Amino acid sequence: MKVTVVCEYNASMSSPEGVAAYPEGLSVCLKDMFGSFGYETTLITYDDKRHAEELTLDVLQNTDVLVWWGHWYHNSIPDETAAMVADQVNKGMGFIVLHSGHHSKPFKRLMGTSCNLIWRENNEKERMWVVDCTHPIAKGMFPYVEIEHEETYGESFEVPTPDELVFISWFTGGEVMRSGCVWRRGRGKVFYLRCGHETNPTYHLEQVRAILHNAAEYVKPTVRISEYAPDHRPVAPEAKN
Ligand code: ZN
Repeated sequence: MKVTVVCEYNASMSSPEGVAAYPEGLSVCLKDMFGSFGYETTLITYDDKRHAEELTLDVLQNTDVLVWWGHWYHNSIPDETAAMVADQVNKGMGFIVLHSGHHSKPFKRLMGTSCNLIWRENNEKERMWVVDCTHPIAKGMFPYVEIEHEETYGESFEVPTPDELVFISWFTGGEVMRSGCVWRRGRGKVFYLRCGHETNPTYHLEQVRAILHNAAEYVKPTVRISEYAPDHRPVAPEAKN
């Protein structure tokens, strides 16, 4: 299976907290993680000056699961690239959107809503409750996954009602949030996982890595098309005789 990781670089990752959380870099952590699952994994990074130019149509057509982490520089991604990503999801590509990727252009395009939420950076405890213990992405996670220090997000999370709700998180400050959600778009599946602030070492946690492994298996294409079926007028029954 081919996985492409798109990850932003921002200065917060070079802060003492960011380096302590991910000495290797968050982008490398994500690439190595999906590589460790046995997937052929490619990393594409972007920032305020680079615009993920390597994310071409050819790369997308040869990607089974696209993983996206972004925060400060969503506007570095050209609208045309976001449209290509959404189109490939509709044609069957799996899409995993992480943390502040809730405001990324491709995710917002696929949701069609603001995707706004409330947030607070104060290293609170997060408890991700499994709300569908039969869901493949939650396998092995019942009854909850606890993350000692994370950024807080909360409702209202302005997205369409998820087709499948896997996790709801509770935070020490009292907020709750739908933190693991699946949407179906065309032939494809989108999974959003809330956790993963760049100064918290969340993606080193075994349970979070297992969730992402489960998620990649869940959203990988079952059907992949290169073109949509042509729009046509069905032949009326009487005309067939
Ligand atoms: Zn964050």
